[in-house]
Amino acid sequence: MAEGLQTVESGADPMLAGCRLSVNLDALADNYRTMVRLSGKAKTAAVVKADAYGLGVEPVGKALAAAGCERFFVTWPEEGIALRRVDAKSEIFVLGGVLEEHAAAACAEANLVPVLNSPQEATVWMEYWRKRGGRRPCAIHVDTGMNRLGFPVADAAELAVAIRESHVVTPILIMSHLACADDPRHPKNLEQLGIFNRVRQGFPGVESSLANSAGVMLGAAYHFDLTRPGIALYGGAPAGMPNPMRAVVTAEALVRQIRFARAGETVSYGATLTLRRDTAIAVASIGYGDGFHRCASGSGVPLRETSVAGGHGFVAGQRVPILGRVTMDVTMFDTTDLGPDAVKPGDWIELFGSNIDIEEAAIAAGTISYEVLTDLGRRYYRRYVGGEAGSG
Ligand SMILES: *Cc1c(COP(=O)(O)O)cnc(C)c1O
Repeated sequence: MAEGLQTVESGADPMLAGCRLSVNLDALADNYRTMVRLSGKAKTAAVVKADAYGLGVEPVGKALAAAGCERFFVTWPEEGIALRRVDAKSEIFVLGGVLEEHAAAACAEANLVPVLNSPQEATVWMEYWRKRGGRRPCAIHVDTGMNRLGFPVADAAELAVAIRESHVVTPILIMSHLACADDPRHPKNLEQLGIFNRVRQGFPGVESSLANSAGVMLGAAYHFDLTRPGIALYGGAPAGMPNPMRAVVTAEALVRQIRFARAGETVSYGATLTLRRDTAIAVASIGYGDGFHRCASGSGVPLRETSVAGGHGFVAGQRVPILGRVTMDVTMFDTTDLGPDAVKPGDWIELFGSNIDIEEAAIAAGTISYEVLTDLGRRYYRRYVGGEAGSG
């Protein structure tokens, strides 16, 4: 193993896998430090739900803890348990809360702090500790306008009283989530901020948290005591473009063949693309079976309603468009403009990373960087670069 290179196997043999992922843990740590700086006086947690947005909660959690992160958010108790295995110290919040006693027991055992989202969850957590005695922390999520998770504002005051009188549960965080933070001009931001500021009054002395990655960019009024970035840590744009974050993930596919086809021939399923010129085609081992979305199929291929240009790859120093439909295991790229010998079987085409911004790859597939990351398939050979192994 090369120095400074920590390799964590995903099960795929690097010599046999058709696609590979490189996760740069130093870039991840840099992005965390950027969020710490942008969060000003507030502390900065890391959201590592959905297996750290598909990148692996264990290596990501360790690298973030090494970068100074002491608070993490996951969604389900299972995710918190996985993180706890590699991180004995940090505070781990469970956004999905505890719906019944079994989940409460799991949180208790792994020392996870549930985020209570409803009166039912508050009752479950209080009952659990009333039976066993002792004071335990919880976080409280108030819904200020998303109608997703969280206590209705009208119930928050009553909840504060119930919790205070229970003498078994101590709120350590009151939080809410912004619906429109990625659009700084959206009036909903100020509206939610105002509601959140009012609700907080009912919980004196309890720390507050409102901002996700995009919320951090809205400015100090949104930071409170703790910010909760996710996507920006992994290289997604916290809001709009250009993207200020460092690319963390590079996804690449192995070129299997170079074919030459004549103008007038068709490419891929449905024969939806007719070539307008004689074309060199790099056939690459990546497809929707790997989470490379079919919606990224080549430009003009009729399988979506939007009119965005199709996806691209990057190889031999140039961008190459996808030809025809993305299939389960294989995708074709137009390498004609690169000249005859620029690409050979065994070369790698970048799908996104340092040359193709993840946000652009997402837009080409009609989706968002979050989904590009969380859909990354199991066939990728994964390599983790940097992090603790690199600094030691
Ligand atoms: C996912 C999530 C975050 C992180 O959001 P990003 O946009 O990825 O920064 C923060 N808070 C809550 C409640 C979330 O569900």
